[in-house]
Amino acid sequence: MTTDVARPARTRYAPSPTGYPHIGNLRTAVFAFLLARKTGGQFILRIEDTDQKRKVEGSLDAIRDSLNWLGIDYDEGPDKGGPHSPYFQSERLPFYQSYARQLIEQGNAYYCYCSPERLEAVNKTRQAQKVPPGYDRHCRNISQEERQAALDAGIKPVVRFRVPLEGKTSYNDYLRGTISFDNSTINDQVILKSDGFPTYHLAYMVDDYLMGVTHVMRGQEWIPSVPLHILLYKALNFPIPILVHVPLILNPPGEKGKLSKRNSAVSVVEYRKAGYVAEALLNYLVLLGWSYDDKTEIFTLPELIEKFEINRIQTTDARFSPEKLEWINAYYINHILSEEDFARRCLPFLTEAGLLTQEEAENVESDQVRWRYIVEACRLAKDKAKTLLEVAPEVDFAFKNAESLEYPAEDLIGKNDGKEGAIRVLGGIIAKLKAISASAYSDRDLLLAALDEVAAELELKRGQVLWCPRVALSGKTRSPGCPEMFILLGVEESVKRMELAISKLKG
Ligand code: GLU
Repeated sequence: MTTDVARPARTRYAPSPTGYPHIGNLRTAVFAFLLARKTGGQFILRIEDTDQKRKVEGSLDAIRDSLNWLGIDYDEGPDKGGPHSPYFQSERLPFYQSYARQLIEQGNAYYCYCSPERLEAVNKTRQAQKVPPGYDRHCRNISQEERQAALDAGIKPVVRFRVPLEGKTSYNDYLRGTISFDNSTINDQVILKSDGFPTYHLAYMVDDYLMGVTHVMRGQEWIPSVPLHILLYKALNFPIPILVHVPLILNPPGEKGKLSKRNSAVSVVEYRKAGYVAEALLNYLVLLGWSYDDKTEIFTLPELIEKFEINRIQTTDARFSPEKLEWINAYYINHILSEEDFARRCLPFLTEAGLLTQEEAENVESDQVRWRYIVEACRLAKDKAKTLLEVAPEVDFAFKNAESLEYPAEDLIGKNDGKEGAIRVLGGIIAKLKAISASAYSDRDLLLAALDEVAAELELKRGQVLWCPRVALSGKTRSPGCPEMFILLGVEESVKRMELAISKLKG
């Protein structure tokens, strides 16, 4: 099977507004987005807020923020509008109510007046009989008197779907092929609640139909509901869209169950704060349940749009691997991002670490000299960083001045002969730096050669010599390479830091 590319796909992401979306749901949204973009179709954002009790304030912003950050844009949605507005289900109640009425008139649905207590008692009895929970269809055939009595008592009914008691229904799941089931195994589900709000089963279907959705891409946890949905599609005379149920994302190895908050970060804000690059997270999410050729792992967004095929979505569960995500993130940082792009993405982390002010970070590119300096500073961490969060602690020395570097004098010694030895090394380097020409000062190899000369003159190993300026310049015993730090800070600042180190050693 291949994607029906002849037909532009209209797909949708239909989150419930319950806060920041789980990355598993976003992964499904990314699949739907890729299919729409690949086929020249449209991608719709629809907010499924029919369960008003679960609604969390600010969710729309959280959803938009997540999609924006991942680089997923939608063509129609709550704030964008579109030919099928409104895109909030709570504002579309008349549609669902009218289809529910149609089903009642056709004899495919009925009002149910059962109280919650009665439903609970029914379930208890079923439990004792070891039958799965479900409705006993009491109201399916109640008498006119009983119905009148319920209405007189002011009971607001729900609407249930009247599932045929006999026969079989089959449908074609895009990834799993033909699935058949006995109608007798399906429950008479509620499709419209007593407050006039629909349940998911009716709402998503009506919206997908009215919005012209061609491919329903959703989590595989919806598979058990598909038999009911097929009967509903038929009763409503809706064409059945292509149903693509994408695999679950499981917790990392060793942990049971679906990827959960308890075991991993599950929202994009957490990944953003932890220094993940949006493109890397997106790339990794797509690999959770999809592959191109079983070996390519790095895909930029345009490549994904070009290569994505829904028939390569797997049916087995995908296991989340924080290590693999980190590897992909490091790959983007080390090999894909340009130096400037990388520095730009480091700015919020530098601000967070107190190395830049908010204002400086916002206007940094207006001062080209300063901007070049920041790009060069961040570059010192680019080859090794696995996350953007690692950059500020690595290059903090570049944003401090000589006086604000705090470290114990003993750190300057390393394998040298005590404080005296360290003083000799630093003094030797200062003298050498002052002697070499300015042009040699920005050449890594010439600088290293100069430092080697100091080592030779003092009869020391290169490592012993490099140790002292490392600490003097960075304030740390682990830092970027010495020549790189000299070049970044410049001769004047470097000499100043080393002179301060000498007084620290003497003091
Ligand atoms: N609102 C449903 C959910 O969040 C959407 C499922 C679907 O995509 O149809 O699970």
